[in-house]
Amino acid sequence: TDAPHTPADLPAPATAASRVPAGHPQDLAGLSALVTGGASGIGAATARLLAARGARVAVLDRDPAGAPAGTLPVRADVTSDQEVRAGVAEAAAELGGLHILVGNAGIGAVGTVEDNADDEWRRVLDINVLGLVRAARAALPHLREAAAARPGSASITHTCSIAATAGLPQRALYSASKGAVLSLTLAMAADHVREGVRVNCVNPGTADTPWVGRLLDQADDPAAERAALAARQPMGRLVSADEVAAAIVYLASPAAASVTGAALAVDGGMQGLRLRPA
Ligand code: NAD
Repeated sequence: TDAPHTPADLPAPATAASRVPAGHPQDLAGLSALVTGGASGIGAATARLLAARGARVAVLDRDPAGAPAGTLPVRADVTSDQEVRAGVAEAAAELGGLHILVGNAGIGAVGTVEDNADDEWRRVLDINVLGLVRAARAALPHLREAAAARPGSASITHTCSIAATAGLPQRALYSASKGAVLSLTLAMAADHVREGVRVNCVNPGTADTPWVGRLLDQADDPAAERAALAARQPMGRLVSADEVAAAIVYLASPAAASVTGAALAVDGGMQGLRLRPA
């Protein structure tokens, strides 16, 4: 399959310059946001765009050195309930409450069920699933307060994955973790809908992030592996971190005030287009 264009060829949909006029439904002035895993890749692009739209932003990460300029870096590992609680409390205190939680921290895992031992399953599920649970538990009291003070402003958006439903080969553990994220998102949306807290997720296809870069570096032929990943998506290219961030920021913004329990695919057509272009 030929790749008609790469994300780099396209006009960037979401950059630090993507400000919107005051009063625009994606104007986030006066809102506070926390992004887990916001120091790299999709999370960093999201933190940057939230800030460009006027939000006050905290980045909670186990390695916060890469937190975008203008955001508050908070060091915490999402596998520690104590660290997450302290980190969320610090962010809410510094930013003046919390309206938006983006649960994004996650790691990959390669292999079939025969390849990963129980300890590896526990490690990945602890980050990818329980990490979101811990962040939500710590943030919900603040989000409820935000919803009461400013109706429509409170939301949780998870970074799920196409892996939740695609049946990807060599991704048993990763897919199971993201399947749990999808179910968790829907159940949380039901639990908190009458509290004014919306809960949604984005399902990226393969996105051009440092993580995917590291994965490609380990391949025998990185260029061929990159081309294969691009060919798997009907658009014939990877998606960019900025494109995923634009979807997350939409779901987190008042523009999506009536959207909850949604899973938005940002995957070059991978989920929706059952027939690949010839
Ligand atoms: P990335 O590795 O570039 O960034 C992940 C960030 O999360 C890093 O800053 C890392 O320090 C942080 N993090 C990891 N474990 C943590 C922990 N235990 N506690 C705190 N912080 C932690 O990865 P990315 O590609 O931007 O992925 C972000 C999310 O997007 C993940 O949930 C991933 O599953 C999802 N996703 C990525 C792709 C893709 O192709 N890149 C596709 C679908 C879904």
